[in-house]
Amino acid sequence: MNLPDLQLARRTGRLKSSLVRDILAATARPGMISFAGGLPAADLMPALPLAATADPALYQYGCSEGEPAFRAAVAAWIGEAGLQVSSDQVLALAGSQQGLDFAAKLLIDEGTPILCEGPTYVAALQVFELFGAAIVCAPLNSNGPDLAAFEQLLETQRPRAAYLIPCFQNPGGACYSPAARVAIAELLDRYNVLLIEDEPYRSVALDVDHPMTPICSLLKRAPWIYLGSFSKILWPGWRMGFLAAHPALMPHLVRLKQSADLHTQRPGQAAVAHWLGSGTRAADLTRLREGYRLRRNAMQAALQRHFGAIADWEMPRGGLFFWLKLRGDLLATRAVLDHALEQGVAFMPGEAFFPHPADGRQYLRLNYSRATPEEMERGLATLAACIEAELTE
Ligand code: PMP
Repeated sequence: MNLPDLQLARRTGRLKSSLVRDILAATARPGMISFAGGLPAADLMPALPLAATADPALYQYGCSEGEPAFRAAVAAWIGEAGLQVSSDQVLALAGSQQGLDFAAKLLIDEGTPILCEGPTYVAALQVFELFGAAIVCAPLNSNGPDLAAFEQLLETQRPRAAYLIPCFQNPGGACYSPAARVAIAELLDRYNVLLIEDEPYRSVALDVDHPMTPICSLLKRAPWIYLGSFSKILWPGWRMGFLAAHPALMPHLVRLKQSADLHTQRPGQAAVAHWLGSGTRAADLTRLREGYRLRRNAMQAALQRHFGAIADWEMPRGGLFFWLKLRGDLLATRAVLDHALEQGVAFMPGEAFFPHPADGRQYLRLNYSRATPEEMERGLATLAACIEAELTE
């Protein structure tokens, strides 16, 4: 085939082919045990509230901000989490990923410094890099970022925004302590740095014994964008998410929504608003968490059997992932990937989650929400054997 001579925007050169996409393509093979993706467990999802989508009027164009009922229900929902906003501060999104795209368009010029956690969410890196961000990362501990490093980066890099995932971070699993939340808010206020707080996993809390106050609610001066999602609790294929933002940012964000896709699909908004106001919500979430807790515990037990001698990790208190560090500095997890895929097991090498891949070479991310206990046992035994084989080569 003759390739056309494409004249494309300069930034398309920064669209890297994604390792994640390649791995997920491999997981479609029959018989594959996948710990790679972040798909929620279909069998734990609540029944779809389809009756709420029956009104034909919902299939006409709607307004860019979102349906009034959806915006009001979301404002109440995040109010319960501790962030008090009016409906006017809520924008319906096609998944919270769209909020990351808008944040990037709003904030990033070529070379704009953005402060992230190291590791961080791979598709946030992708979109921030597309717009030319200079990404700097503060190392992440299980209770939040290293505060001294965080402050030093604020001081020396003067980032335009900080992007944080304080509840069950993807991929690191961290859940920020109350003290870390207060300290981060104070630092962002002091340096007047905008916060993008991304919270798709807030409702997948398994055993957390402290409040998870949104950091946005603690800010006194710095502007903020809060991103939420229904993908992990109410079917990701709906592509239903939202943002809430400081009032000064809303007109810009609504214009970005108009220019991106006019508005979020209305039947999905109606269904989500219905579920948020329904009497089944609490029971649905309890059932979901109980199912995840069993799977998380099964994964922990299988990991102790097969990875106890070769890796270190902390059991996640929520979210969908284990984050492991191989002991010693002998092996890059990426080097094991092809062999593991041949053996029928997929995982995510740590390098995908850092702007400088070498920083993640010893890490791997394992999803626990999809595999059965028997698949976990078999898959983790196989993966550990692949690592040990590589180590002894
Ligand atoms: N942020 C983080 C940290 C995520 O893990 C994900 C999904 N994997 C998203 C945003 C995007 O979620 P969605 O667009 O489905 O709401």
